[in-house]
Amino acid sequence: MILHHFPGGIHPNDEKGLTAHLPVENAPVPERVFLPLSQHIGAPAEPVVKIGDTVKVGDKIAEARGFVSANIHASVTGVVRAIRDYPNVFGRLAPAFEIETTDDAPFHPKKNREDALSLPPQTLIPFIREAGIVGMGGATFPTHVKLSPPEDKPIDTLIINGVECEPYLTADHRLMLEHPSEILEGIVFLHHILGARFTYLAIEANKPDAIKVMEETARDTKINIVSVPKRYPQGAEKQLIKTLTNREVPTGGLPMDVGAVVQNVGTTFAIREAIRWGKPLIERILTVTGRGIKTPKNLRVRLGTPLSEILNLCGGWKTTPGKLIMGGPMMGINQFDTRVPVTKGTSGILLLPRDEVGEYHPHTCIRCGRCVTVCPMGLLPNFLGSFAEFDRFDDAARYHLLDCIECGSCTYICPAKRPLVQMIRYAKGEVLRRRKKAAKK
Ligand code: SF4
Ligand code: SF4
Repeated sequence: MILHHFPGGIHPNDEKGLTAHLPVENAPVPERVFLPLSQHIGAPAEPVVKIGDTVKVGDKIAEARGFVSANIHASVTGVVRAIRDYPNVFGRLAPAFEIETTDDAPFHPKKNREDALSLPPQTLIPFIREAGIVGMGGATFPTHVKLSPPEDKPIDTLIINGVECEPYLTADHRLMLEHPSEILEGIVFLHHILGARFTYLAIEANKPDAIKVMEETARDTKINIVSVPKRYPQGAEKQLIKTLTNREVPTGGLPMDVGAVVQNVGTTFAIREAIRWGKPLIERILTVTGRGIKTPKNLRVRLGTPLSEILNLCGGWKTTPGKLIMGGPMMGINQFDTRVPVTKGTSGILLLPRDEVGEYHPHTCIRCGRCVTVCPMGLLPNFLGSFAEFDRFDDAARYHLLDCIECGSCTYICPAKRPLVQMIRYAKGEVLRRRKKAAKK
């Protein structure tokens, strides 16, 4: 198969050796979970239970509000103690359920849809919607929306994303090693829904064992297992589509504009569970890693488990704390409060010791152009950063600010240590806020 080249990209140390060999362990069920009403892109869900109600693991506790939204389910059996503001991953307070656990039993499936492939394709989508599944690679876009493209956007290519290019993280890698048949069944379900002509499972070349296992599992199918070169951000949707199909998603567009749908392997696994067993999204696999944690692990964790519980489970900080990051080092978000819970998009928790973090004193831009060279979206991060710095939001928007995928490659490479992606993120937030306000008038 001929692979194509997306522009830019970088080669950071992948640091996956800390956890790639560690089988996934089940984390104990916490005494309390905190489940935000918004764990996805789109409208927050609307509560359908009230304080004092008893809920069973897997019960729907909040209903999607509108098409672009997602249901929320109880991740434990217990009593709803509060629906209140609680710290979230973005450093803000947002409404969340507090459920006190009374029983740590796992979810028991009530269905076994062995005949799912004999059902009409479109009838499978409501199972996915009902299960509250969103993109688990971090994007958290509701999956049923992605699988319902308008009629004028036919899909001929299904891409399953097993690239996991973010350094340190190994949750998807372990999932492919430990649950290849379930992933394969998920891919078959997705293929049935979309009727795509081409189906690829892309895995970065630094995971030869996962490539081998998936090749053996998919031997008698038409699924193409593709080893893609190790280059960050190879796992970003638009870059992966370019690599596999040579198609370019237009500015402001979506993969469906070029006939493609991309689903992460974790999402594909969750889709299989939802269709086959009627299992909602109540838990996920994540990597706890970095040289700051005593015992790195890959863990299966109930959603809503506070960070503090996970850190305790892994022995806590090994040395003087530097940074605590939800996600990986490139696209993750710094955390300052260990009450923050694991949500549907939490792929990892990274602890960096103080001596690895260093102090950054940004200088003025020296116009070296390195950020421009590495930007995988062909943007001018130096200009975007400066526009953001001086609140020139209209200029930033004219320079395609909203096309930035926040990969962090520009910040990584900048010799002047300018916090480019942070400034760009700030400007994107402001531009979107102003557009929303203008649309309401
Ligand atoms: S963060 Fe945005 S501007 Fe910077 S390299 Fe990535 S896509 Fe380009
Ligand atoms: S890499 Fe940094 S110093 Fe070089 S052009 Fe970009 S912003 Fe300026």
